[in-house]
Amino acid sequence: MPWCEDCAKFWNPNSLPVDGRCPSCGIQLAEPLGLPEGEDIRAPWHFKLLVAATVVYLGWRTLQLAGIVD
Ligand SMILES: [Zn+2]
Repeated sequence: MPWCEDCAKFWNPNSLPVDGRCPSCGIQLAEPLGLPEGEDIRAPWHFKLLVAATVVYLGWRTLQLAGIVD
């Protein structure tokens, strides 16, 4: 049964919201439901790398169009 340190209270798993957070203080008590095991909802590192590379490329192209660099 999930125990909330901050509230000094046990929560019935059935009374917890699906995100597994304490209803009164919002601390993460249990694994969120409805997500497959091990799936990371954040963007993967290679996606961030792709975005960063695109930003750098577009910035470079902008400078080229502005005639600042050759
Ligand atoms: Zn709490």
